[in-house]
Amino acid sequence: MQKRASEEMLAIDGGKPVRQTLLPYGHQSIDEEDIQAVVEVLKSDWITTGPKVAEFEDALADVVEAKYAVSFSSGTAALHGAAFAAGLAPGDEAITTPMTFCATANCILYQGARPVFADVSSDTLNIDPEKISERITKRTKAIIPVDYAGHPADLDPIIEMSREKNLTIIEDACHALGARYRGKPVGGICEMTVFSFHPVKHITTGEGGMVTTDDASLAKRLRRFRSHGIEGDARTRQAKGQWYYEMVDLGYNYRLTDIGSALGLSQLKRLGQNIARRREIASRYFDAFHNIPGITLPVERKDISSAWHLYPIRFDRAMFRAGRAEIFAAMRAENLGVNVHYIPVHTHPYYRSLFGYEGDEYPIAEKAYETLISLPMYSGMNDEDIDDVIQIVKKVFGCYAI
Ligand SMILES: *Cc1c(COP(=O)(O)O)cnc(C)c1O
Repeated sequence: MQKRASEEMLAIDGGKPVRQTLLPYGHQSIDEEDIQAVVEVLKSDWITTGPKVAEFEDALADVVEAKYAVSFSSGTAALHGAAFAAGLAPGDEAITTPMTFCATANCILYQGARPVFADVSSDTLNIDPEKISERITKRTKAIIPVDYAGHPADLDPIIEMSREKNLTIIEDACHALGARYRGKPVGGICEMTVFSFHPVKHITTGEGGMVTTDDASLAKRLRRFRSHGIEGDARTRQAKGQWYYEMVDLGYNYRLTDIGSALGLSQLKRLGQNIARRREIASRYFDAFHNIPGITLPVERKDISSAWHLYPIRFDRAMFRAGRAEIFAAMRAENLGVNVHYIPVHTHPYYRSLFGYEGDEYPIAEKAYETLISLPMYSGMNDEDIDDVIQIVKKVFGCYAI
């Protein structure tokens, strides 16, 4: 009896934590083959932009069924490149979601354009097409939907709207490599799709990103932008014995390395496995949690296959004695590495001071934020890790239930 009572007592109140070590919310998975692939590049002639970059780009374009893929030094740099290629400039507006990492909106500011937010749908927390249509003005040039948590945004109505109004769609699919929308892989659906290879994402290059597109002229602009706005690349010039080049745009050094590309190529081979494992984890969470009163689980709409980058749950504040801060701290004390995705972008001090947002403009995103908790979700989790997550979630919500 005594033992049982102490096991049930929350770690934050002095009980025994369910886990002895912290389980992170996301983590890279690196195997021996990945390491060998990187070592080979280190021993080769090209460690910056060499043959592996193009190989990785071609392989990723194949996987997402796009004609072109242009790599970047990060997902953020890739977003910047896409905003540039879309022609965003001062005086323009681009519409995006507040429920995202700030980099999605920042790329609009990098181009001197104005980010305009549209609220999300309450089931997927993806940008709501109807809210987008209310925000379109004569200045709108682009729409940047995000595939939140790996669930593709409601793309068809957004595409229809963009055709009518002649807008460019930049899909921020940093969460959604491997996702499918109405039978099609994410990456070949919108004018441009952006991926990130940060270690918490599906595949990693350390830091890295990619833009995929079917449009040759966009691909060309993207390639120039990532390398100072210069036509062609140094390796080709060296091979041809040429020294002359022309800078035609103001670009940056946003290049991905051969070291990172070799890692990405090797990781990409396991993408299918990685997604399958994430789907398994999502289904175990669903089975364990869907009957707990007051908990809202992430959904998968009809004809969608989510890439399950995150597993964000919400709870009904009226059914528990504690708010997110206490529940979050209690889970951390049990060694569950929960996180919050996301602080709505417009509520960050920078956006508040630039645009005078009060933080009550996008009620669905703002209300969701108050109780959002991301549970661990990554392919390297073993079955005991999943059991621990389930035990901790049940223990903590059980203790705080009214
Ligand atoms: C990770 C992420 C980014 C930025 O990618 P980096 O590679 O970290 O620069 C942008 N948007 C979203 C939605 C992301 O999750």
